[in-house]
Amino acid sequence: MEYRYTNGGVKLVIDDNVVNKLSSFSQLFTGDVESGGLLLGRTQINGLTKVYDITEPLERDKRGRFLFKRKDKGHLELVSQANERCLYFKGNWHSHPQKNPSPSWRDKVSWKRAMRESKPGNSDYIFFLIVGTKEIKAWCGKLNNRKIYEMELQS
Ligand SMILES: [Zn+2]
Repeated sequence: MEYRYTNGGVKLVIDDNVVNKLSSFSQLFTGDVESGGLLLGRTQINGLTKVYDITEPLERDKRGRFLFKRKDKGHLELVSQANERCLYFKGNWHSHPQKNPSPSWRDKVSWKRAMRESKPGNSDYIFFLIVGTKEIKAWCGKLNNRKIYEMELQS
């Protein structure tokens, strides 16, 4: 089942196969380390962004129980390949060993940096997902003021 998130007029849809992929990285066991990657999708003229694919942890990424650093250059290579399928960078995701995940101070710093550095095409926002053990939460980052807003999951 696809997930739909909103915040005012900002709309994000996560395709069901992406929901399944993300859920598979949920840190259900105490030995599970954090995962992460990039969101690949498209923004429609009406402002709705749909995520159709993600990149997944690669060999050179740094991973710990409370840490994920996307160090592998392969993620950017995969974005270039996705561009050929008309899928574009739309933000990033990572997992947390929390039921109802919330961003750490460090996450917010890295999200602000992602906003500074991103060229998301025709979108005014980029998106951040955190995969918890019970739910997947979403935030949107507005590029012109670099503010972060929590989004609400629609049932
Ligand atoms: Zn985090």
